[in-house]
Amino acid sequence: MMEELGITAYKCKKCGRVHYPFHDRCLSCKSREFETIKPEGAAKLLAYTQIFNLPWGFDVRFLIIGVVEFKNGVKAMGQIKADSLDKLKTGMKMKATWEPIRVQAGEDIYGLKLASIK
Ligand SMILES: [Zn+2]
Repeated sequence: MMEELGITAYKCKKCGRVHYPFHDRCLSCKSREFETIKPEGAAKLLAYTQIFNLPWGFDVRFLIIGVVEFKNGVKAMGQIKADSLDKLKTGMKMKATWEPIRVQAGEDIYGLKLASIK
């Protein structure tokens, strides 16, 4: 069974700007009224990078991290399932899943994982 993405974003009721994580006031119009939305639709890769100095709890040598934007405007950062940066390109479509990303105090910590769509 697929886990639902554990991401809630906040859409300004006045101007429609999407905030994630939460901000007290809209960064565009300073309104304080938001509606909560979930990431929907395909995720487009906006940026990516490789990280070698990992915090404790990761059992890998390096990670590839990317920022994606979902069709409804939610932007989020996640781990990309790839061995190298060679096959990645900004603008490409990614499949987003919610999976354990590391272990902390014996428990799985879930997070966003991204994979390129073949
Ligand atoms: Zn606003």
